[in-house]
Amino acid sequence: MLKIGYIFLFLLLNACQPVKNENVHTKKEFALVIHGGAGVIEPGTMSKELENEYHLSLSEALEIGKVILSSGGKSIDAVEAVITFMENDSLFNAGKGAVFTHEGKNELDASIMVGRDMSAGAVAGVTVIKNPIKAARAVMEKSPHVLMSGKGAEEFAILQGCEKVDPSYFYTKKSYESLQAEIEKLKNNKMGTVGCVALDKFGDIVAGTSTGGMTNKKYNRVGDSPIIGAGTYADNNVCGISCTGHGEYFIRFSVAKDIASMMEYKNMSIQEASDYVIKEKLVSKGGKGGMIGLDKYGNIVMPFNTVGMYRGYCTPDKKETFLYK
Ligand code: ASP
Repeated sequence: MLKIGYIFLFLLLNACQPVKNENVHTKKEFALVIHGGAGVIEPGTMSKELENEYHLSLSEALEIGKVILSSGGKSIDAVEAVITFMENDSLFNAGKGAVFTHEGKNELDASIMVGRDMSAGAVAGVTVIKNPIKAARAVMEKSPHVLMSGKGAEEFAILQGCEKVDPSYFYTKKSYESLQAEIEKLKNNKMGTVGCVALDKFGDIVAGTSTGGMTNKKYNRVGDSPIIGAGTYADNNVCGISCTGHGEYFIRFSVAKDIASMMEYKNMSIQEASDYVIKEKLVSKGGKGGMIGLDKYGNIVMPFNTVGMYRGYCTPDKKETFLYK
């Protein structure tokens, strides 16, 4: 009788267990997750060749980070190297290939944050810096500030050794045509902000984001990408996040920090917190976009509420890239 009682109690306790969360709580040796922008990325809208180009580029970006992290390198170096590679690839809306402002210029924003000490750096509206992510890192490491903009940011970045280019370097036919189409109200906004979050073997989480902003932007508009807590956030005790989408919503809803706060204060998993903010909260307000993130164990998430998002991740034993849902 006693035995039956024990069995009953055992079954009852098991039935009361919360649904098993897929997230693991042992730290991965390293983890890396990237995005190349969210938006109307649908099967059938691009050629097979272009699809392959995106997969190849995302895969190469992951490989660059993987080589650094698997050989014991730091997440800060992995994030800078991966984003620099993506900035140099005109497929994306960051660095070369950035979208055009209404005036037909390229104004670039970028940010980076280190979760070990919450240090951060960002630049907004730079026009002659080849790799804005390097300028963001210089602001973080070589100045007492977090965000610099325009001419001052350029002057500082050049003094710190960042490569200067002629503004015409950023031109691509595709981005210029996107501006013309947007002006014609064809809603052909080029997607392709880039982001990267890495966790290294030291347990350090770093997040970075780089963008040309939104096609047809005016009046030195700045989006969420260089805003710490909106487009980028990292805290070793919680998570690292990089966002992409309609920046005005991501700023107003402090998306990156909102997700981190729910994890920190409400003990939610990164999956639960990010799904809630991206797929429920933002959707109910009309904010389109997505994010990539990882927690301190290396659990990776890549939610979005748009049709697609260029994205990928790698861990010591897995590497995958995706475009569509
Ligand atoms: N979030 C960027 C901005 O608003 C754009 C994007 O991610 O597509 O500037």
